[in-house]
Amino acid sequence: MAHIVIMGAGIGGMPAAYEIKELLGKEHRVTVVNSNDYFQFVPSNPWIAVGWRQREQITLPIAPYLARKGIDFIAKAVSSIDAPANRLTLDGGATLDYDYLVITTGPKLSFSEVPGAGPQANGGGGFTHSICTVDHAQAFFADYEKFLENPGPVVIGAMPGASCFGPAYEFAFILDTDLRKRKLRNKVPITYVTSEPYIGHLGLGGVGDSKSMLESELRSRDMKWITNARTTRVEGGKMFVTQLDDLGNVYKEHEVGFKLSMMLPAFKGVDAVANVPNLCNPRGFVLIDEFQRSKAYRNIFSAGVCVAIPPVEVTPVPTGTPKTGYMIESMVGAIAHNIADELAGKPVQAQGTWNAICLADMGDTGAAFVALPQIPPRNVNWFKKGKWVHLAKIAFEKYFIRKIKAGNSEPVYEKYVLKLLGIARLSK
Ligand SMILES: Cc1cc2nc3c(=O)[nH]c(=O)nc-3n(C[C@H](O)[C@H](O)[C@H](O)COP(=O)(O)OP(=O)(O)OC[C@H]3O[C@@H](n4cnc5c(N)ncnc54)[C@H](O)[C@@H]3O)c2cc1C
Repeated sequence: MAHIVIMGAGIGGMPAAYEIKELLGKEHRVTVVNSNDYFQFVPSNPWIAVGWRQREQITLPIAPYLARKGIDFIAKAVSSIDAPANRLTLDGGATLDYDYLVITTGPKLSFSEVPGAGPQANGGGGFTHSICTVDHAQAFFADYEKFLENPGPVVIGAMPGASCFGPAYEFAFILDTDLRKRKLRNKVPITYVTSEPYIGHLGLGGVGDSKSMLESELRSRDMKWITNARTTRVEGGKMFVTQLDDLGNVYKEHEVGFKLSMMLPAFKGVDAVANVPNLCNPRGFVLIDEFQRSKAYRNIFSAGVCVAIPPVEVTPVPTGTPKTGYMIESMVGAIAHNIADELAGKPVQAQGTWNAICLADMGDTGAAFVALPQIPPRNVNWFKKGKWVHLAKIAFEKYFIRKIKAGNSEPVYEKYVLKLLGIARLSK
């Protein structure tokens, strides 16, 4: 009997656990280890931050759902990995041995790279908010409620080195919609500050017509923007931004005033993973081959935000490539098949397509993009806007949470509907 341990129970880890258990059956043991005892549906955090969702609507306890499928669960953070000995040490000192390790630990939120930014609880200076976790989104909402009594300027965007831009746009548009509904938008100048070289770059070199569509959306919602923004520090109510030109020279210095701000941070790999010799690149992301397998340790696989993907292109201010939900699930599918093949004595062969499908809500409308594959050149490359996306995003939330409760990582209808659209999870 092999013991497969999955580290991290997020958008990647939960489907990984279900899929691996389904393929391996009772003969093998699957254990999930996660820092918290609950799963959170991260894509709904922007709605939490404006009070459109409550915490209990987008979080659920992990243990009972995994238990139903015969999967063990430990609610503890892994503090270190001894890869040559196949052993994890958990917070508190207990150890856990594995035959295969699947790392799906998501990002370490690297707020400290910009002095003054980010929640203090995460090593930040406390002057800007985040919506990366449900706790952060709730903290934003608490401040937002006070802000509504005496509104003022808002800054939203992404820090140098960020790789997740969709949620920054999404949140700017959601906040705009919420303020308009409250008839307070006229009191809130909004500036979008981003490390992207142009609006709609998204860390992807653009997708379809994302540049003109997102510029048009920002303009029609009366938002100003600063691109190529190297945010250098934040003080109470002031953001200091050096704007670069396309050649990387200083173009302009800005001191942007604000009353409330949400800036997505740069991502890194979490410490327990980053500290393993030879496992990661210098930012702590796991170096993998085309089969999602560690280049250094043949019994370690990895998926999700924690894997190393080179930037799509060099940008004046550093930006990273986003790893979106469906792409993550395609990585997870490949891992499940590859571990099953190894245990059956066959060579690994499954490769994820890394297809990206992303739905970004804008409060009253939305934007969707499909990039197949996510890294250019692409076979499919489109970006479209419409009310249908707003509704599709709500449906996606309900559907994904139901999927996590049911323990079925790729229900049959998902497989066939996406197939009709020419979207597959595995290329081989
Ligand atoms: C605000 C926001 C909105 C997004 N919206 C979308 C969207 O609409 N569509 C889309 O496709 N993508 C979206 N993304 C991108 C991506 O889908 C998410 O970031 C997704 O959560 C990544 O999944 P993951 O499994 O890699 O990491 P996560 O979901 O973050 O899961 C990582 C898990 O690992 C655990 N962990 C970390 N360290 C340890 C440790 N040492 N020991 C044990 N456990 C550990 C964490 O507690 C967490 O539960 C969004 C991202 C953000 C930040």
